[in-house]
Formats: sequence, structure tokens, C-alpha cells
Amino acid sequence: MTKDTFQYTDERFADLQLLRYKVSGFEHLSLKQKILIYHLSEAALWGRDILWDQNCRYNLRIRQLLEAIYTDYPGDRQTADFREFTVYLKRVWFSNGIHHHYGSQKLRPGFSRKFFRQAVNAVPAGKLPLGEGQDSAESLIEELLPVLFDPQVMSKRVNQAEGEDLLLTSACNYYGPDITQEEAEEFYRCQKELGDKLRPVMYGMNSQLVKEDGTLKERIWRSGGMYGPAIDRIIEELQAAIPYAENKRQQAVIKKLIAFYRTGDLKTFDQYTILWVEDTEGEVDFTNGFTEVYGDPLGLKASWEGYVNFTDREATRRTQILSENVQWFEDHSPVDARFKKSVCKGVSARVVNAAILGGDLYPSSAIGINLPNNDWVRAEHGSKSVTIGNLTHAYDEAAKGSGMRREFVIDAKTVGMLDKYADACDDLHTDLHECLGHGSGRILPGIDPDSLKAYGSTIEEARADLFGLYYMADEKLIELGLLPDKEAYKAQYYSYLMNGLLTQMVRIEPGHQIEEAHMRNRALISRWTLKHFPQALRLTEHQGKTYVEVLDYPTLRTAFGTLLAEVQRIKSEGDYDAARTLVENFGIKVDAELHAQILERYKKLDLAAYKGFINPRYEPERNAAGKITDIRVIYGEAYDQQMLRYSRVYHTL
Ligand code: ZN
Repeated sequence: MTKDTFQYTDERFADLQLLRYKVSGFEHLSLKQKILIYHLSEAALWGRDILWDQNCRYNLRIRQLLEAIYTDYPGDRQTADFREFTVYLKRVWFSNGIHHHYGSQKLRPGFSRKFFRQAVNAVPAGKLPLGEGQDSAESLIEELLPVLFDPQVMSKRVNQAEGEDLLLTSACNYYGPDITQEEAEEFYRCQKELGDKLRPVMYGMNSQLVKEDGTLKERIWRSGGMYGPAIDRIIEELQAAIPYAENKRQQAVIKKLIAFYRTGDLKTFDQYTILWVEDTEGEVDFTNGFTEVYGDPLGLKASWEGYVNFTDREATRRTQILSENVQWFEDHSPVDARFKKSVCKGVSARVVNAAILGGDLYPSSAIGINLPNNDWVRAEHGSKSVTIGNLTHAYDEAAKGSGMRREFVIDAKTVGMLDKYADACDDLHTDLHECLGHGSGRILPGIDPDSLKAYGSTIEEARADLFGLYYMADEKLIELGLLPDKEAYKAQYYSYLMNGLLTQMVRIEPGHQIEEAHMRNRALISRWTLKHFPQALRLTEHQGKTYVEVLDYPTLRTAFGTLLAEVQRIKSEGDYDAARTLVENFGIKVDAELHAQILERYKKLDLAAYKGFINPRYEPERNAAGKITDIRVIYGEAYDQQMLRYSRVYHTL
């Protein structure tokens, strides 16, 4: 065997670390598949500006300005101000805007206002992103100073604090700045009432809600509409991909997506997702469009994302086994029979390698994805799940030797257990979460799938995680050859609880609460278990350090099963009050003293809390007649060069 010399880790700054992923297996694909991936990758990159604008209405202009300073500033680049400016720009790139990609709080510039003024004035006037009615650097500076520096202005991208107007206090650009939460909720309540109750479209998913002459109106994201110039370029690449599709079905998928981008019609979108979910024969697959709703405090508007993947045949065995047994898992789950699916449909699951990451999946990416998000489509047509093997592999490689386990795991015996089982268990838990967890259970007839409102995402993630945790300890997994023995699950239980109770706090700034849905869900599960099952789990102190101590692993399984039953009931019945109580009591608040201790211990390890990926480049090789003869994968582009290139080449809005 040859040693793996691929350079997985790259730049490190602020709380961020850049990694690279290897597109393993690309060289074994056919030329046709490679060209398909090439065009779909281009389509995934052309939507970048949409996401920037969705995240905050100032983002695109601020990016243009910061990049102009970065490339054209004629002054001294060795000063502390310029170094801080560079870090800030790199963080803005990473976040696709001026708010933290995960916590959503506004990033604080480390450079002075004075430097900012001087730098903007030093940039060639032609490069300034002047707004309407602006004729000088001075007016631009006056406009942007508070947006960049004033902590009160646009302080959060997504505010979920109870009791506040979530729209007026969120900086995301999904609603006009003057639209209240009540107005928007009323607007969509009316749409829902008038629409199909049995098979509702994803109301509001692909538009900005604005007020014109006192009337609420949707600006639809489509060709010829809002974001039209970006969408037109996406359509061009999708069209170029069609001749290289792997089969007729995939061609139909791409054509339907184009039809959706042309019309913005949400019924067409549902038709597209149905075609997409039923297209499982090819090796190459992609997501391109308005997808996840975490960025909207009301959970309606979908951020743009794009990525392309192809099957990792070897690793797909694992998820195929799970899918083949989907009904067994549904039948044996600890939830009330009324909330189970009598027939589980088509949960397809593959392990894939990512070929490109774009939009809301770049540079920070999910490692498991389950789509579509429309509940009735999932119930009637199933869903597609992937776990992205080459990203997970890059994470694992980067984590080696990080010292986290040595610092936070209670004793050497447990460290040994984690070293032995944790990587494999983690992959399996992700598979269970994605292929079985999200697809399990059913909502009672007549219940609005959005009943849980702002708590919906957290409850849904908790449901999928609990489903996975409950089954990790089931001997069925050993019988299916997915786990080696009866001890393995303990590694997953320990590392999950350690993360939920202690180590995930390293991602939160002092004084802040837990905001992100997946983090809230992990805190919720872990702290609920800590409170209700003290005979199985406790926190212990040793020399001023807090550790997770598991007293009884089998009882933990009982705890996860009990909570799974309750969380499923909440989702099935749309019990908003119970969802709120669970999330508010266990998922949000941070114990300041414990938080400080964790941060202190973590700081000593000198690691980054978040990781993201630099994409490879695809370069077509052509013969004399201009025909593509191969696609080359090029690694090694620097982070800043990639970001500047994307801003230059894929600049549409
Ligand atoms: Zn999930």
C-alpha cells in the first residue's frame, strides 16, 4: 500500500480551519460521467451570489469593497490593522457574509474604523460598490460603518429569541426590512388556507416577501425575476449537462429543474423533487436550488445550495443494508404505534464522494444530507440520503492527534474504547440518522407539518439523532454485520454525550446561548438524559475539570428510547407547547461557569472550532477540434485565490 500523502489541512485563522477533500474515484469514472460532473459543478458555483444576498442585503457590496481593499490597497500591508483586516475578510468569505456561519452573530472586525476609512479612500474609485445616489467614498463609508462596526446594527442573521419580533430583529434578507413577524405569518397562513391541504407546496420557499405601496408581495426567485441573472447561468450549465446525463430519468430531472427555475412555480418544484427522489439508478447525483430553511427564523425561506456527488460503491454497502431493513427498524422502534409508518417507502441511502460544494454547503458543509424536505413528498415517494465519505475522511484525518480525547474523556480506558470504535460508530450513527431517522414515523392526518414553528428544526434533528442512538445499542446491527461487537455502541454513547454536555460548547462565544438546530438538539438529548436518568449518567469533577461519567450504558438506551417516543409524539401531534418546553428547558441555555471551564481547556489545545473545505478545480482538456477529451482535477488552489476567483468568475448579482 502507498502512503496517503494528500494534504488534508490548510489555513487556520480565528475559529476556523480550512481542509481539502480528495475526489477519490473520479479517475475511474467514464468521460461522459466526468463531463456531467463538470457541468453540474459549474451550475453549483453559479448560485454563490444568491446565498450572499439571502444572508444579508449588504453582503454583496461589502464583499466587493473588502476584496478591492485586499487586492488594491497601496499602503503598508504589515500593520496590525491590515493583518486583522485580512482575517476579517477570510471570515466573511467563510460565512458567505458578515454574520458567523454557525452562530449567526455579526463578526467583529479587529481593525479600526480609522483604517477602514483610509483604506476605502485609497481604493480606485471605479472599484467601489457605490449604492444608489452615492457619488463618493465618503458616502459609502458613512453607510457601511455602522453595518460593519456597530454591534447593535444587524446584530444577528437569524434571531430566534422568544418574545422578540423574529423578523425585525434578524438581518437575513428573506423579508423586507419593514415586515413584521405577524404580517409574514398571517400572509402565509392565508396562502396555506387557500391551498391544497393534502399535498401542500413549500409556501414562501423561493421568494422574498416585501411591502409595495402598503401591500405584501412576493419577489419570486426565478429567471426574469429576483436573482434572475444568477439563475440564468445555472440554467445554462444544467442545459449543457443534459446530453451527458446517465439515463432518461436523470435527463427528466434536470429538465424539470430548469422548468422550475424558469417559472418559480412551486408545484413544478414538487414534481421535480418527486422525479429526483425516484432517480436512484445513476452514480452521479446533485442538489441545486433553494433547499434548507435554517436561515429563516420562520423556517419557510430556503437558502440556495448546490453540490455534486457520485457513489462510493464500497462504502454504500452499509447504507444499503439499512435501507433493506427499513421496515424492521420502523416496526421495532419504541414510539407509539399510531405514529409509525405501516409501510416504509424507498429510503435510499448511498455513501458518496463530493465533487464540488457550493452555496450554503461551501466552505462549511454537512456530511450527511437527506432530501427532499417536503413532508408529503417524503411520505408518498420516500427520500434520498447520502453520507459524504470523502468529507468525513478529511475530518477524521484532520482530527488525528488533536488531543481532544486526552483532555475531555474521563479515563484511559474510555479513551481506548473511543480510539478503537469511534470513527466507525460515528459513520454508522450518521447513516442511521439520515437513512432511517428522518424518514421514520408519520404525522397524524390533519396536523400542519409546520406546527412546531421555530422549534421544528431542533425537534426534527433530535428525532433523527435519537432514532440512531436507540438503535446503536441494538444487536440487530451486529447481526447485520455493521458493528463488530456488543461493546462498540458504548463509544458512540460516550462521545455523543460528551459532545452534547461539554465539548460542543467550544463553538459558542462567552455569554451567548445555543442557536443552531443540530447543537440545540444534542444539548436537549444529553441534558434531558442527565436530568431524568441520574442512575446512568452524571457529571463528575476531577482537579477542577468536569467530565462525563457513564454509570450504566444499557440504561442510557432506555433513556434514548423514552425520549424518542416523546419527541415523535410531539412531531406527530404537532404539540407546539411540548416542543417549546423541551427545547427551552434543555436545548438553549448555557451554564456560564461550565462554559468558561470548557473554553479554557479547549484553548490550551489550540484547535479551530469549525472547519470548511477548499474545492478542487475541474479543468476540461480539449483536442484540436475543441472536443473535451478529459476533465482534470486540480488541487492546491489557495483559499484566498479560490474566493477571489469565484467572486470574479461567478459574479452575477
Ligand atoms: Zn438531520
